Amino acid sequence: MGRLQGKSAVITGGSRGIGAATARLFVKEGAGVVIADILEEDGKLLADELKAAGGKTEFVRCDVTKSDEVKNIMTTAVRSFGKLDILFNNAGITQEPTDIANCSEETYDRVMSINTKGCFLGIKHAVPEMLKTGGGSIINTGSTMSVVAIPYASAYCVSKHAVVGLTRLAALDYADKGIRVNVILPGVVDTPIHHQFGQEISPEELEANMKELLSRQPISRMISPDEISPMVLFLASDESCMCTGGIYPVDGGWTTI
Ligand code: NAD
Repeated sequence: MGRLQGKSAVITGGSRGIGAATARLFVKEGAGVVIADILEEDGKLLADELKAAGGKTEFVRCDVTKSDEVKNIMTTAVRSFGKLDILFNNAGITQEPTDIANCSEETYDRVMSINTKGCFLGIKHAVPEMLKTGGGSIINTGSTMSVVAIPYASAYCVSKHAVVGLTRLAALDYADKGIRVNVILPGVVDTPIHHQFGQEISPEELEANMKELLSRQPISRMISPDEISPMVLFLASDESCMCTGGIYPVDGGWTTI
């Protein structure tokens, strides 16, 4: 029997990267999965691939900054799979490297809105559905930058620090109601996020940026998304029944320094 047999999950930012790797693993372990993302083509392709292999899944377009769209993914999970047990609050973006004085307000607001408010809205709309069946598990995606700072990443760093605060608060709000809330802190993971800053940077800048990031990670190679998803699976499953409010680095040792 799969480790998530009979469970129902929503994964935001599920069309690619860490979210897609987790969707594959969740479906393999028996869960019904709603893949939610703004990237429709990739999300639909993934859902079709998983369905063709016998999995229970569907793609729903959702911008995590829009409350009604976030509510819709939770009700879709209930309609399709009968209930909601798991939310992986994973959608996120990064920012172009810049110091605070040169970070535009637009960049700051956009990063905070997706990375932090998106998690808030996920919790807000998942909880009522989870309470109907006695509980569930919510996993938020933070970052090593949730607990350490690096220069030129103010909006991202603040947004991911806030995700830890939100995780702790939500864990306390719902500990006696059967809902567990934890946060994972990935290190440098090999996904398209490193190429998309909202504004173009040169290949030289990109290379320097990646070198700088990897120099901070003692296991100094890129992490595969498939090396992150097993931690999400553990936190989603009943194996982690006594874990809530916890911070789980999967970071090649970065946060030991
Ligand atoms: P990714 O870019 O491959 O995946 C992010 C996904 O989020 C994409 O599918 C994107 O379309 C989606 N997304 C962006 N804005 C959205 C919105 N408004 N509504 C819905 N979906 C939206 O990158 P990834 O590395 O897989 O990122 C997943 C999470 O992991 C993010 O929260 C990111 O901050 C975090 N993270 C990544 C790394 C890394 O090195 N890749 C490190 C630490 C944390």
